[in-house]
Amino acid sequence: MNKQKCTLIVFILLTLTVVLSSCGGSESNATAKQIDGQQAQQKIYKWKMVTTWPKNFPGLGMAAENFATLAEKMSGGRLQVKVYGAGQLVPALETFDAVSQGTAEMGHSAAYYWKGKTQTSALFTSVPFGLNAQEMNGWLHYGGGMALWKELYEPFNLVPLAAGNTGVQMAGWFNREINSLADLDGLKMRIPGIGGEVVSRVGVEAVNIPGGELYTSMQTGVIDATEWVGPYNDLAFGFHQVAKYYYYPGWHEPGPTLELIVNKQAFESLPEDLQAIVEGAARAINQDMLDDYTARNNAALDELVNKHGVELRQLPDDVLAELNRVTQQVLKEIAAKDSGFKKVYESQKAFKEQAINYHKISEQAYYRARELK
Ligand code: CA
Repeated sequence: MNKQKCTLIVFILLTLTVVLSSCGGSESNATAKQIDGQQAQQKIYKWKMVTTWPKNFPGLGMAAENFATLAEKMSGGRLQVKVYGAGQLVPALETFDAVSQGTAEMGHSAAYYWKGKTQTSALFTSVPFGLNAQEMNGWLHYGGGMALWKELYEPFNLVPLAAGNTGVQMAGWFNREINSLADLDGLKMRIPGIGGEVVSRVGVEAVNIPGGELYTSMQTGVIDATEWVGPYNDLAFGFHQVAKYYYYPGWHEPGPTLELIVNKQAFESLPEDLQAIVEGAARAINQDMLDDYTARNNAALDELVNKHGVELRQLPDDVLAELNRVTQQVLKEIAAKDSGFKKVYESQKAFKEQAINYHKISEQAYYRARELK
């Protein structure tokens, strides 16, 4: 063998050694990944969910329970979520902080409760005279809303998901008739979010009190009036025993979206299939809750009026028009001072303008058409 041939053979052998050893490396990497993947597949995740609702409360509380049941079934028991009612693990209005800090992996709530953290959060629940449920779902899932919501919650270490909607709410329970704006003056009313800011401009003292404390607050005169949800939920709380008049429409909450918040590290620690299950189960309860309210509000209203003698009243047009005027002013003022709010507000406003044009000739025209005799 000459020197040249010998060098060539040594070169080939060295190359083969390098190739084989690197093959062996990637093989063991792949095996390690497979083992990691298998371990993640076998691992059982036991999570806690804190909520702002009484445990098992119809609609709102049941949406949280339904999420837990669905996620466990979809994952074959690999994701188990224990749901805590308001006050069981943390007080209702500490849900956001508890999930942000990892005390619980998840929370079910309404974003507008966190306006003290960021006032932009209100835009992800409901805006007075804003989008209804159908429109909110369109904006969130196909109009850029979810991306804006994720961006907003990122600094709080949270991943948000839309997880329920009540549909158009009621204006609320009052012990005096509202025939003009002057009748609102001096009322102490529970009304959260931007709606609270709006009524405070027309003389109402707006407060936020968790749902579970509302009945007693009305009964003892801590507040004179309250909004809550609609017939289905309001009947369950028994507001007809502590207030005489039930006003509509819920101008302040035309399509409130509930939120599921997930601690970011907890979400990222899940294997991809469980992440998809969390997202899919949230999307399912988002629709399911609206279906529940659509089916039950009718019967509950009938019971309130015909069995309990509740006096149903419509807010006068001039009161509604003034509340709408003040709403637009409040929204513009907040947007002028807060660029983060402005970005979301403008996205939602552009969507609303298009939705109004189309819904005028679809939903609205149809509602009118089916009443024609
Ligand atoms: Ca409400």
